[in-house]
Amino acid sequence: MKIGLEIHFQVSGRKLFCECKGEEGTKELGSFTRKLAVVSGERSEKDAAALQESMKGREFEYRKTENSCLVEMDEEPPHYPGKDTLETAIIVSLILGCKVVDNVHFMRKIVIDGSNTSGFQRTGIVGLHGVFKKGTSNIGITSVTLEEEACRKIKEEENKVVYSLDRLGIPLIEISTDPDIRSPKEARDVAESIGLAVKQSRMIRRETSSIRQDLNISIRGGNRVEIKGVQSLSQIEKVLSKEIERQQSLVEIAGILRNRDVSTDFHIEDLTNSSFFKSSDVFTKGLKAGKKIFGFTLPGLSGVLNNGKYRLGREIAERLRTVGIGGFIHSDELPNYGIGEAEKKEISKRLGAKNEDAFGLVSLESNRLSQCIEIIQSRIAEAKKGVPAETRGANENDTRFLRPLPGSSRMYPETDIQLIPLDSEYIKDVQRKVPPTVEQRVSHLESLGIPRQEAFVSLWKEYDDVLESFVNDFGSPKVCARFLAVVFASERPDVVKASTLLERFSRGNIPSESLEALYREGVFIMPGGRKIVLKKNDSSNYVLELHGKDGNKEIGPDFKFKGQSDERLQKIIKSVIMKNENLVRERGDGSFKLLMGEVMKQVRGEFEGKDISDLLKKMISEASHKDGKTEFQDAGKR
Ligand SMILES: [Zn+2]
Repeated sequence: MKIGLEIHFQVSGRKLFCECKGEEGTKELGSFTRKLAVVSGERSEKDAAALQESMKGREFEYRKTENSCLVEMDEEPPHYPGKDTLETAIIVSLILGCKVVDNVHFMRKIVIDGSNTSGFQRTGIVGLHGVFKKGTSNIGITSVTLEEEACRKIKEEENKVVYSLDRLGIPLIEISTDPDIRSPKEARDVAESIGLAVKQSRMIRRETSSIRQDLNISIRGGNRVEIKGVQSLSQIEKVLSKEIERQQSLVEIAGILRNRDVSTDFHIEDLTNSSFFKSSDVFTKGLKAGKKIFGFTLPGLSGVLNNGKYRLGREIAERLRTVGIGGFIHSDELPNYGIGEAEKKEISKRLGAKNEDAFGLVSLESNRLSQCIEIIQSRIAEAKKGVPAETRGANENDTRFLRPLPGSSRMYPETDIQLIPLDSEYIKDVQRKVPPTVEQRVSHLESLGIPRQEAFVSLWKEYDDVLESFVNDFGSPKVCARFLAVVFASERPDVVKASTLLERFSRGNIPSESLEALYREGVFIMPGGRKIVLKKNDSSNYVLELHGKDGNKEIGPDFKFKGQSDERLQKIIKSVIMKNENLVRERGDGSFKLLMGEVMKQVRGEFEGKDISDLLKKMISEASHKDGKTEFQDAGKR
């Protein structure tokens, strides 16, 4: 088994070939419509993929946005790539141990789905032949390329696709690995590690949609299959496992078919006027719409169309769906769809199907029959060989057919952009900006007292710098790490707010368990109904207030607890000691446990347990050794 990854990262900043902002979701400002021209000049090599797409005869509508200009509309040639963008691609190449090219030469890669207004995607190799160390294994890096992001698909109608120009042109770094990966689990691990290493450049967009993976997989006896659009790490493993099962079953089917009399010489009959489909909604609906029903033999295919793990029927249906033919039904899935066992036998007899023969049924306009039959014949021809080379799309758990794997002849030189020379002095300069490795960075954070796992999380979410400065300012590395993990789990982490809270915490004013609730909700409700409330004041600074049970402000606006909080705790402890005066005198320190329980009942959540016990111990000791009248006044000085 051979697995290779193509990992895509969006680079933050401007777009690759114009000065528009690289962002998604900006305001729409009108639209225009174009048709895809497949045959023209340099694009005359109609490869299989382009042909198949052209059959759809689609129209593309493009929505202009605030961050799109004439370049995105393909009415102006591309501008020179941004310096920072190019530098990021070089840094990423160096992080992955690649050799940086002497000249970046942009090429045109044909796209046939309308996702680029120009009909091609511009792509330029920046780094080559790298090695990425993952544990004990070395994963070869084929290349690091800089390319432009495609349009964002808004919706797909029957003969039209609507795209937004907001995403078109966002710089994309594509990292391709050699097919060195040997299992779905390893694929996930490698993608995660490369992601973490590349993020250290600090130039990768943080939006969740900004990282995507394509997978290449082939198994023994199979063919290369490319899987597009895997969005998350966990999906990599799931999708690959299912895809391996699919390919293995196709290899097995090919083995079975080799011993059978499989032919693409179908016997076709018009069954429109037969009585087989009276109870079938699928077919009566088609008839009402003026469609006809055709039946045809599928010689030698019984039991491989839909039988346990064998799902050749689904493969055929997927191919038909790409040209808009739905509702392909075959004998392996009958009785079903209102067609009973008796009808199944009758149809089989009428078509003259023999022992190992299956049959298929479709409802369509008669002028589409030959196209339908051709598609089925070609898929069966491929099934005899095994796994067809395809581009497939990732679903949540498995894959679906998109198009045949395009040939490699789709690249043409981009004449609108000059060659970009990268001289060795410049590369040396950039070399100095290469960040420390992940392991170096994690070790450093560990040396500050941050737990290793939390250090990794902070690197992944890119708040390790904030974490480091918090630990320097406030101490308590474990509290800082845990707290920031909560802060950065939210959609818009507010570092100022977090810092305000940690500052209070470091002064001993906020119990650590309430830190997180305060950050998330802005309110921490204490036992007994009092509340700590986080608010913004007039000058937009965060302030803390203490509100009583009745909702009235008790302390605030800036929650100046220093001293006051101790006073309140002292008051409570004092009253508890007074209530148990005799016990304290008799047992001294031995009364601690009992009193602690009582104090906790009154203050739990409001103060740190350790602060309470320290103060209580001190006050008990003073009360039992001195005359219990005056010592309380000094007890709070810590
Ligand atoms: Zn632009």
